[in-house]
Amino acid sequence: MKVFLVFRSCRIGYLYCTSALLVIFFLSLSTSNAQDVAALNAANKSVTYDQAISKYKFLDEQYAQAKLIEMGMTDIGRPLHLFVISSDEQFSPEQAKKSGKLVFLINNAIHPGEPDGVDACIRYSERILAEKKALPSNVVILIIPFYNIDGAMKRGCCSRANQNGPEAYGFRGNARNLDLNRDFIKCDSENAASFTSLFRAWDPDVFLDTHVSDGSDYQYTMTLISTQHNKLGGPAGKFMKTTFTPALFERMKAAGDEIAPYVNTARYDDTPESGIYGFLENPRFASGYAALFNCFAFVSETHMLKPFDARVKSTLRLIDIMVKYSSENAGTIQDKRKQTNAYFKSLKEHVLGWESDTTIYETIMFKGYESYRKKSKVTGTDQLYFDQTKPYTRSIKLYDEYKPTESVTVPDYYVIPQAWKNVIERMIFNKVEFIRFSSDTSLMVEQYIIKDFKTGKDPYEGHYVHSSVQTEKRTIRMNYYKGDYLIPTNQDAIRYIIETCEPTAPDSWFAWGFFDSILQQKEWFSSYVFDEMAATILEKNPGLKKELETKRTADKDFAENGFAQLYYIYRNSEYFEDFRVFPVSRFSGDN
Ligand SMILES: [Zn+2]
Repeated sequence: MKVFLVFRSCRIGYLYCTSALLVIFFLSLSTSNAQDVAALNAANKSVTYDQAISKYKFLDEQYAQAKLIEMGMTDIGRPLHLFVISSDEQFSPEQAKKSGKLVFLINNAIHPGEPDGVDACIRYSERILAEKKALPSNVVILIIPFYNIDGAMKRGCCSRANQNGPEAYGFRGNARNLDLNRDFIKCDSENAASFTSLFRAWDPDVFLDTHVSDGSDYQYTMTLISTQHNKLGGPAGKFMKTTFTPALFERMKAAGDEIAPYVNTARYDDTPESGIYGFLENPRFASGYAALFNCFAFVSETHMLKPFDARVKSTLRLIDIMVKYSSENAGTIQDKRKQTNAYFKSLKEHVLGWESDTTIYETIMFKGYESYRKKSKVTGTDQLYFDQTKPYTRSIKLYDEYKPTESVTVPDYYVIPQAWKNVIERMIFNKVEFIRFSSDTSLMVEQYIIKDFKTGKDPYEGHYVHSSVQTEKRTIRMNYYKGDYLIPTNQDAIRYIIETCEPTAPDSWFAWGFFDSILQQKEWFSSYVFDEMAATILEKNPGLKKELETKRTADKDFAENGFAQLYYIYRNSEYFEDFRVFPVSRFSGDN
């Protein structure tokens, strides 16, 4: 704006020269400001969205090995940017796949109030591009500078009440007040639609989502979530638990920045001494979504009470170590993913539900602070405090094993009628392969009837989420129309398909309410006519008559409610509609 005004004011040659000099001065000032992100961080400041994008544009212009590209839109109409660093100047997913390079994706500002990764990634990119030797020849590095751009624009000082800097940062919710770290399956936001398309196009081998954590206080600046290894499963799960994660811990310690597993306690105000639990991330979360594609996913969680500058440095260190480790072990990482993909394709049963197996734990040395409880001056109740003057190193229990609670047999195919466009659209974002019927088709399929479920009282992330879903399965001949979708499970997206299409899965289409219209009864009866029909129905069906009498005897309210009794007969008669039929069917073998 200042530059614009200078030009507008110039009328004579002398002033024109002055203003031109001013332009150069302002441009150089903005460039040097953007360049010195380390100085900003040291002053407890984080870059703005505009500063970050102009910085990446500058790097794109400066270095042949870097390119800033746009990968779809976000809810506020700004593009989702992706910064690509590639030593051989190849910047497309097709080229990356062809070259066999490992793809390393970093996502920042999913929670814009936790901007450590935003600044760390700019500093990392600057450094690695400047020191050409540091550029790994076998890794393509992808950086999303800001994922929740909408939230980043709502910049303020205070929405993270207890966080130790930076001075200004964005807001957690996006333009639709969605937490994008719950949006990976339902894709309510355009951000998530763009992200999932990007993720599936590039098919990253390693993924890091950067955050800042609240919760217990302890000595570490950085804690790390690795995708829960039992759920990641197969050779990848084992490699994650026994090799990849321990290597990152060792290397961070050797670099003088010891880290701990993410401090996830059983209850909110439990202390770490009571034991910490591996974090189970369902596919709604970034790393849980990545696990559906056998990707090695991590979530960095710096601690909110550590100074911003130290948190950025720790995130930068972790990125550096992760990229180096991935480069050194690229072949193994890629092999483990391939093996895990084959493993999931070979399974007859697929696990949908998990719970912590508290019979198994390991003991880890933990650097915490002594805690105590004292009466709050405000509430008069017991309050937990941590004493930073009393650090300790103590062995604590880490419960990092999960066991299956529910599984389903894997069918060869799912069938989705084209009417369910909202589901199909999301499957297309995720590059699910399908066949469309070329003519009307009749098939014998397994079909679920939704028997029961619980629904949250309040909306959660824009949905009334269903849980504790009970189903009954039946085999039935169904007629499908030309253009309906046949989805083979023998494809790379197998885990995504099963965990969205099975109604009892925690992040299924059903759980998120995509099929809510099937839950409502459409036809009714007129009791003044149906009363006499009901008598005939009972005459013809002595079993039903007996059931009705038993229910009347057991339930006084029912016995006194004429409509309820007629409705009971109606529901158990041939007049009642086929109710709560789950629209996605499944079958195996020939049909
Ligand atoms: Zn976060």
